[in-house]
Amino acid sequence: MLRVFQNDLFEEKHFVVTLELVPGREHLGRAVDAVMGISRDAFADGRVSAVSITDNPGGNPSLSPDVIGHDIFDLGMDVIVHFTCRDMNRVGMESRALQLARMGMKNILALNGDYSGQGFGGQGAPVFDLDSVQLQIMLGLLSERLQAAGDPDSFFAGCAVSPFKRTEAECFAQYAKLCRKVAAGAQFIITQLGYDARKFHELIRIMRHLCIPVPVLGSVYLLNPRVAAIMHSGKVPGAVVTDALLARIQKEWRDKKDGRRLAIERAARLAAVLKGLGYKGIHIGGIHGRYDTVGRILDRLARIEDQWESFLDDFDFPQPEGFYAFSEEVDDSSAGPGFCVGPPRVHQQERLLYGALSRAHDLFFSHDHPLAPWFRRLAAHLDGHLGRKLLTDLVEDPAKQFILDCRKCGDCAIQHVAFICPESQCPKHIRNGACGGSLNGRCEVHPERYCIWFRAYKRLSGVGRIQEMVRGCVPPRMWELNQTSSWLNFHLGRDHQSVSNEIAMRCRAGSCRL
Ligand code: SF4
Repeated sequence: MLRVFQNDLFEEKHFVVTLELVPGREHLGRAVDAVMGISRDAFADGRVSAVSITDNPGGNPSLSPDVIGHDIFDLGMDVIVHFTCRDMNRVGMESRALQLARMGMKNILALNGDYSGQGFGGQGAPVFDLDSVQLQIMLGLLSERLQAAGDPDSFFAGCAVSPFKRTEAECFAQYAKLCRKVAAGAQFIITQLGYDARKFHELIRIMRHLCIPVPVLGSVYLLNPRVAAIMHSGKVPGAVVTDALLARIQKEWRDKKDGRRLAIERAARLAAVLKGLGYKGIHIGGIHGRYDTVGRILDRLARIEDQWESFLDDFDFPQPEGFYAFSEEVDDSSAGPGFCVGPPRVHQQERLLYGALSRAHDLFFSHDHPLAPWFRRLAAHLDGHLGRKLLTDLVEDPAKQFILDCRKCGDCAIQHVAFICPESQCPKHIRNGACGGSLNGRCEVHPERYCIWFRAYKRLSGVGRIQEMVRGCVPPRMWELNQTSSWLNFHLGRDHQSVSNEIAMRCRAGSCRL
């Protein structure tokens, strides 16, 4: 197998370049030829460490990254396979990971993935059986199995993060989840797309503050007015193009030739800024058709990289009332991020609901409470057919349905999300933190709702407990408990809080303080 990407990442002086390519919907033809041609030229050029291949971007079907990735791999070019949680359950995901191992393709970018888009006959069913933190753990455990079976090469898995969120709650949620991904084993990080140097710097400062020694690549995209307008409209989850940037790009592209030249210059300058800020490399996207644009960006980067500080003003596109975790004036490397420094802004109703649920949970659902043995005996007594039916039909289901819109998953996780149900309130059912798709606090899939992690931060910051979003991680939902009583499952030690297996152990270990 190839180890170019991994070796380059850990070579001290090497500034890594990766290239994100999007396979089309067909198995042959122009799109495939373009991806293969760009990869061939990238390999011949020698400055690109790996080509990364997207996994059904936008949730819409496209040629499998495993297949076209393997063709690229055969050219001698290293490949990063994007691996999302959207289209397969944990059985399919494990099988896919084994297939990739068999093919020798072990660089994986582990992602939750965009929500399901349109496929054969309409919208696809969103699976999201695991989330990206749990996927990291799965790949870590699979690596141990591979090694035990005599394969010396492990998976080399990384993750994504967005430093470009506008609100304090979303910023914290991103960094909290990053902590969990790294604790779960992520070995490299790739940022989402944005044009705010202060935000890029913020990520580096936060990682230093948290002592996260994982190499990070910043995204650089070749923007044209069409793509900039799509990103500006919020249709590309996680990508941020502000009004001012869109206006500038539209102006630059009044003359196509000028627009293209300035887009290359912007990409090269952003690459220089990222290198200057301490990024380990860049992840270039927006390349379609031909490789020569990448070559021009890298040539230009080599010429201008020493002037990176003079380019910082080119990437000053803040979002209106955008939150920054560090003050602009003070660049004190020892100062921590400024989350929760102002008065908590939590709606009275949210505060009351959180307080009531929290107190009820501490009383009824804590194995350490003095009444816990009594509840255990009561649960054992009710655990027959009739008792279960009476409990669920008359008490548990109506109460949880009314308060939480409970879906009866049987393995309750509300305590990990500030007493919000991740099954009914999060379309991706994420138990470990926000995906990258929220926009101004709103859910990627249902913009009429707030993201549950945005709401969780508000609730927890109001009571000084935001560290709960960082602590340990939450194991995968136990599907064998579906449609059973989560109350009985808790007290009788059947749910994820009591089980003792490798996943649970890894989740209980490791966390960082934000
Ligand atoms: S039991 Fe499952 S579906 Fe019901 S509230 Fe808890 S997490 Fe949500």
